[in-house]
Amino acid sequence: MAHGKDEPYPVELRAPDISRWRRGNTGIAYMTTLDSGRPGPHAMVNAVTHGNELCGALAIEFLDQTGFRPARGQVTLGFANIAAFQAFDPAQPNASRFVDEDFNRVWDIATLDGPRRSAELARAREIRPLIDRVDYLLDIHSMQHATPPLMLAGMQDKSVALARRVGQPELIVCDQGHAAGRRMRDYAGFDDPASPKAALLVECGQHWAAASFDVARDVTLRFLACLDLLEPDYAARHLPKATPPTPRVIEVTEAVTIETNSFSFVEPFQGQEVIAKAGTVIGHDGGREIRTPYDECVLIMPSRRLAKGQTAVRLGRFVA
Ligand SMILES: [Zn+2]
Repeated sequence: MAHGKDEPYPVELRAPDISRWRRGNTGIAYMTTLDSGRPGPHAMVNAVTHGNELCGALAIEFLDQTGFRPARGQVTLGFANIAAFQAFDPAQPNASRFVDEDFNRVWDIATLDGPRRSAELARAREIRPLIDRVDYLLDIHSMQHATPPLMLAGMQDKSVALARRVGQPELIVCDQGHAAGRRMRDYAGFDDPASPKAALLVECGQHWAAASFDVARDVTLRFLACLDLLEPDYAARHLPKATPPTPRVIEVTEAVTIETNSFSFVEPFQGQEVIAKAGTVIGHDGGREIRTPYDECVLIMPSRRLAKGQTAVRLGRFVA
């Protein structure tokens, strides 16, 4: 089994061969829309927003291999950051997160419309007209640490409602994203309370863990099912039968954005730790102490990439 240099987690997943998706049928490489020919919503299952996150690509491979066709409406199966994904190397599994910049920080309208250029912005501008036609987006991700899966539902109630209908994972996080730039799940109508569109970002588990694929597959099936997009026969064969636990919602109150070149946590936090007491020091950013703002503070996805301008961790509390 491959084991990356300085990488504590074994690479249990493989990067699937997606070359057959290259042509697509949308005029955009690696974007394929399955059209039922019947009225209904346009849903999108999106993989490899980050090139080193394999479970979403494997979930799309699963849909393909099991003969999925939408029962109504349209379903687009997409691979976002192809250039990064194609550079994936199990010996250096973290190296292929992106080419020039994080694909999931370029979705501000001003950035998309602006003059800045990068491999990721070029791809975002290429797929944007298609994203504009999507009613419901599921963007599949995985995490640096082996921690429980999370649904990142953004700031709009409609997305929390959709996350509850999907029903998995159990933890639903309401968050504003990152100071470094807007995520695809927060783009345009997805983050507009006046729009019926909704988007979810699922973090399925550790990047290389076999279990992350199981989560990605099951969440994808439940997402399609809750939109009535699965044929009954297909659902009977593949949709998970188990009723998931009652969701718990975590409201993120702030993101800790790194201000110096010397940020460190006081412990090797993995994520979703609950810190009992307000005022507990969890890290240092240069001379600045990072303290928890309230009792029972949840640490959401502490990062291993502690670079100036990036998010070190998000702080939240259980609301339901
Ligand atoms: Zn990701």
